[in-house]
Parts: sequence; C-alpha cells; structure tokens
Amino acid sequence: MNFFARFITPTGKAADTAAFPPHSAALPFSADLATTSSSPPARPVWLWSLVVSLWLASVGNLALWKALSQADGLSSAQQWVLGLSLGLAIACACWALLNLLSWGRAAKPVMIALCWIAAFAACFMLNYGIAIDASMLVNVLQTDVKEAADLLHWSLVVTVGAIAIPPTWWIWRQTLPHRKGWRPVLQQLGMVLLAVLAMAVVVVAGFRPISSAMRNHTNLRYMMNPLSTVYAAGNLVAQQIHHRDTTLYPIGEDAKLGASYAGQTSFPIYALVVGETGRAGNFATNGYERPTTPLLSARQDLAIATNAWSCGTSTAVSVPCMFSHLGRSSQDSNKSYENLLDVLQRAGLAVLWVENQSGCKGVCARVHNANTETDLPAAARKALCQDGECVDMALLEGLDERINALPAEQRAKGVVVVLHQMGSHGPAYFKRSLGQDKRFSPECNNVNLQSCDRASLINAYDNSVVATDRMLGSLIDWLASKGQRQPTAMMYVADHGESLGENNIYLHGLPYSVAPDVQKHVPWITWLSPAMQQRMGISTSCLQQAVGTARISHDNLFHSMLGLTDVQTALHQPDLDIFASCKGRSAPPATLAHLASASAPATVAALPPTTVAAARKRG
Ligand SMILES: [Zn+2]
Repeated sequence: MNFFARFITPTGKAADTAAFPPHSAALPFSADLATTSSSPPARPVWLWSLVVSLWLASVGNLALWKALSQADGLSSAQQWVLGLSLGLAIACACWALLNLLSWGRAAKPVMIALCWIAAFAACFMLNYGIAIDASMLVNVLQTDVKEAADLLHWSLVVTVGAIAIPPTWWIWRQTLPHRKGWRPVLQQLGMVLLAVLAMAVVVVAGFRPISSAMRNHTNLRYMMNPLSTVYAAGNLVAQQIHHRDTTLYPIGEDAKLGASYAGQTSFPIYALVVGETGRAGNFATNGYERPTTPLLSARQDLAIATNAWSCGTSTAVSVPCMFSHLGRSSQDSNKSYENLLDVLQRAGLAVLWVENQSGCKGVCARVHNANTETDLPAAARKALCQDGECVDMALLEGLDERINALPAEQRAKGVVVVLHQMGSHGPAYFKRSLGQDKRFSPECNNVNLQSCDRASLINAYDNSVVATDRMLGSLIDWLASKGQRQPTAMMYVADHGESLGENNIYLHGLPYSVAPDVQKHVPWITWLSPAMQQRMGISTSCLQQAVGTARISHDNLFHSMLGLTDVQTALHQPDLDIFASCKGRSAPPATLAHLASASAPATVAALPPTTVAAARKRG
C-alpha cells in the first residue's frame, strides 16, 4: 500500500489542492489505517482512476511484460523502450476508459469490476498463453460448470487475488466526492481528453518500435489488459447488434434422397464423430512416432487426410462452422441459417446427436438428441463417468437402442449419428483416458499445466488420443458388425487442435490469424464398409489417394457429408466434396487439383519424407 500512498500524496497536492485537505499530505494510508477506521478524505474520481490505471498497466499486464521479455528478435534496449511506450500508452488508455465509465456511485463498482476482469484475463494469459478476443469471450460465456471446474487451481486463485485484491481494497476505502454541478463533470471529461492526448503523444513518440513489434509479434496486441477484454466485449456486443436478425433461414429445401436409396434392403448408418481438441501431429495415423492410435493404425481400410485444417480454434467457432453450408465464411454472415443436420433430416434421414461435451452450440437444436451425462444406465455411468464427466466410450453405450428409438419411417431410409466427443479437451487431459489407455507415463495430472514437465504433459495428452483411438476403433467394429449387407460409414474430424506449451502457449482459442498451426491442423479419418463402398461406387483406395495429402478443411465437411449420404440438393458443391472425384471409380483419380488448391502447410512439409510416405501408405 505504500506504493499508493507515495504516489497519491504528492500528485494530489499538485493537481488539485481543493480536493486534498492539508492533512492528506501527512496521512499515508498506513497511518490512516493504524489510527482510525474512518474513510480517507474525498478525492476526485479522475485521481482514483489514474492510480487504478497505473496498477492495471503495470501489475495487470504481467503476462504482456513476460511475453515481451521472451519475444524473439528484440534487444534488451528495444524491450525496455517498447515496454515503457506500451506501458504508458496502456495507462493512458485505461485512464481515459475509467474516466469515461466511472460516474457517481457507479465509480467504485466499475473500477473494481475492471480490476477483477483484468486479474482473470492476466491469470489465464500467464498460465496458458491464451489471448482475449471476441471468440474467446464466447467460449467463456458458453462454458459449463464441468469445464470451468477443470480450469480451477489454487495457483489461479492466488494469482487472481494478488492482482485484484489490493486495488479493490484501496478503491473500496475511498470516499466519493460530494461536489455537485457541472464542474466535476467537466473536470473528469477534461481528464479523458488529457488521457487521449497523452496516449497519442506516447504512441507517436514510440510509433516505430510499437508498430514493428505489433507486426512481428501479433499476439502482443491481444494481451493488452484489460483493454483487449473490453475491446472484445464491445466487439461481441456489436456482433450481436449486427446479428439482430433472429430469423432462422432454411437451406436445402430441395433436399431429397438420391438413387442409392431406391430398393435398399438394409438402411445405411453414417456415423460422424465430431472430435474435440484433436492435434493432428499427435496421431500415429498422421505420422506421429508414438503409438497413439494402435487400433486405427492396424487397419488398412482407412482414408487418412494428413493435411486437414479447422475453420476455428475453439469449439464455439468450429462446430457451427463445420455444419454450415457457408463454411468458414459463415463467421462473417449476419444471418442465421439451418445447417447440415437440418438438410439431412429434411431429405428424409433419421438424425441423432449424442453429446459427451458442453453442448452442440445450437447445431443439434432440431434433431434427435441424447446425452451421456443424463441418459446412461447406472452401471455404464459408474464404469465410464467420474465427477459428472464421461470418457468417450460412453458415446457408444446403447447406440443400438438409441437408433431403434428413432422414428421408424426415417430410420428405414437411413440413420445419421453424430457423436460429439470429449476427446482431448484440456487442461485436464488426464481425465480423458482410463486404465489400459494410459499407455504413456508419468502423466501430468495437474490442470496448472506449467507446473508439469513437458514430457508428462504430452504423455497425458497422448493418452487421451489413445482413448479416442479406442472409441473410434470400437465404433468401426460396431458398424462392421452390422453384417455384410448393411452399408455403414464412419467419419471422424476434430474441431480444432491444441497447443502443448510450445512458446509457452497452452490450450487453444487464439485468434485464427495468430494461432499456431498446431491449433488448426486436425485429424480427419474416414472408413467405409465394403457394402457402403459398393453402394456409393467409391473405393477406399481411391479415397486414400484423394485425401492423403491434399489440403482440405472444415469447408469440405458439409459438401462431403451430402456426397457420402447421397442427399441431392442444389447446395451441394462437388468441388468441395472429398468423395466426388472417387464416385463411380475403382481406380485412384488421376488428379485432385480441386482439393489440393492450397500449398501444403509447414507442418506437413516439415515431416521427414519417410514419415509422410508412411502416413500416405497407411492412409
Ligand atoms: Zn473444441
């Protein structure tokens, strides 16, 4: 508290003697506290906000200062110049913001709220290297108790408290000024102007180092606390206003089942697994050297897309985008449309969504639903679930019964089952695998990931991939067990990847433009039963070659599912359908230029040639 006392007393005297009674200079807080519990003398709000701004710019931005000190290509002198310029600019911006927002009795709650927002943001940035933008706020708003509980750790509580409690205590003790009239209002608005001018001077003076650092280290611009959070919140509100059109626009109204359904004796089953936090580089099927996918790697009948990319870096962004006919551009649309599942259902198929995570983000709103948390028999729940969270094998429990419960007329045509898995959701990776799936040890069993050594963190993550392998392997076995005549198919695509401590970045959700490839490069695996291959006129060997190394993305999912299910609609774009070039062919296609439109990314190109060849061979 001496920091505040030393700071306020001389500044207050010089700036506004009317607001500072003579005794205030001789009354540091420590003395004030020691002698009396009465409130300190009233000081103008602009002065409180200046103190709080300096606290926020310095302590509240520890994550930014840490990132700056570790930024590549900057000398120590450059780091100091940049740190000083940024610190002053952030302090000025906070001061302007607080003066704008803190009026009358709202002053204390506003300042305290901003301190706590800054503390939480700083804590997550420090612990996980995340950045705050609008999509991260959506993730926070859409999280559930289980996900939030996974993030809780005593070190988080201590860090948040250390950043937020001192200014909260100080603000709480201040006495609100009682001066009425226009003078204090004009004074406060004048301080807003002064703060903006001061910020402009600082930015102009430090323009070269600031602009160059922001260009080369784009993540820094999302770490300016709490400005990035306030900006993201404003952005989110603006998006909501922009999205005010709440009409749900139908799509694919012309959808109908194709010729393959005529005269069928067994209905097809299409299982689509929406993977969670699947990091392509940690799947042995994609060339990873550790045996993380023993069941899938042993199969010769899988088509592995080794160059597949997500449309977002978080569940809240990726899942709606994966099912949208607009793909990644759906994020820019201000209209709400129906999605793939609505089209499949409209065509006549029975559609069932089985949830083992925090929700389908609206995608499954109009189709049949089941949830592992609430719909499992007691014995299965006891074996597969702990503390309200189930491992993904729970998704396969009672699938036959679930399908049998679907409307008979639709079921007779065909069934689409979407399994939304928990996958490798962090930071509690150790909770995603059980018993024999814990192949790699020791395992990090702490949600404060930085406290684990990297090897144990990767062990815990890799064990979660082993659990996914077991679930997918069992799902394929279940589909294959349907008999030779029932056409079945499985497609697994993860929603996004994950950072596992590279450059001190953990988890996922960084803005797409600055997110590392590991958060965007996802596994994508397809299996077709012999009966399905025959029905669709698609050979697995053709598909293996078609998707082996061609760059594909979530933009392909909507059209590929229409192609796989043979649902006819004008929405279907064959050039985005990974099956289109193989339909009616027994031999591999001569060229796949339409899918390989983008150059191979660094992660695939960087794999040793033998690894890529092995991945292709397996695929
Ligand atoms: Zn996700």
